[in-house]
Amino acid sequence: MIITSDTERADLIEAGKRLASVLRALKAKVAPSVTAEELDDLAEELIRTKGDEPCFLGYTPEGAPRPYPSTLCVSINDEVVHGIPNESVKVLKEGDIVGLDLGLTHNGIIVDAAITVPVGEIDQGVKKLLDATERALAKGIAAANPGKHIGDISYAIQKEIERAGFKVVKELGGHGVGDLVHEEPFIPNFGRPGEGELLIEGMVLALEPISVAGKSAVTLAADGYTFRTKDGSRSAHFEHTILIEKGGARIITQ
Ligand code: MG
Repeated sequence: MIITSDTERADLIEAGKRLASVLRALKAKVAPSVTAEELDDLAEELIRTKGDEPCFLGYTPEGAPRPYPSTLCVSINDEVVHGIPNESVKVLKEGDIVGLDLGLTHNGIIVDAAITVPVGEIDQGVKKLLDATERALAKGIAAANPGKHIGDISYAIQKEIERAGFKVVKELGGHGVGDLVHEEPFIPNFGRPGEGELLIEGMVLALEPISVAGKSAVTLAADGYTFRTKDGSRSAHFEHTILIEKGGARIITQ
C-alpha cells in the first residue's frame, strides 16, 4: 500500500508496535521442549486479546493449494519458511533454530515480520548465519530510500549474506504489504542497484532476507507450504515491515 493520510500512518505504526510486541513474547517463550503449536496458540491469543486479527490464518497465497491453517509460521532448522505449527507435533530441542513469521491486521492494515531464534545454545557457525541474515535486513532497510529502486534493496541484502559466506534463496523474497498480505512489488533477495521499481514516499514494504548455510536449492513439501533446503542445511529468515519516508525507511515492526 501507499500511505496517503496521517490516520493511515498512525494505524500502520500502531499495527507494527503490536506485532513487534507479540514477536517479543514468542521469542521469550522459545525453549527446549516447547512445541510449535504452543507458539501458534500464544500468537493467536495475543493478537486477538488486543482486538486484532491474525492475517495468515485462512489466507491463500497465489499458487497455494489451500488456505493457510495457522496464525504463525514456524520453520525449524532446514525448514526455510512457511512451516505449519499445528498439523504435526513439532517439539523444539536444544541447538535448533526456529523461524517465527507472523502477520496481523489492525484497523484494516496488515503488517508482517519474522525472526529466527536460537533454541538454547547453538553452534558458532549457525550463530553466524543468523547474524549475517539479520545484518542483511538492516542493510536492505538502509538502502530503502525514496528515489532508489527495489534492486538497491536486493543488492544490499545479497551482498551482506554472500560476504559472510552464505547464500540467498532465489525463489522467495519480500513484497509490498498493508492492504493485502502480499502485494506488488516482489523484492528479490538478489539483484542489481538501480534496477526494478522506483521507491517512493509512503510505500509500505516487507523486506525479508532468507539465507541458507549450504546450497540454495529448496523444495516444497506435500503440505503445500513448508519450504525446506534440498541439502538439509539450515536456513535463517528475518523480516520487517517498513515505510518509505523522506529521510529514509522507518521500521514499523520494531
Ligand atoms: Mg512476508
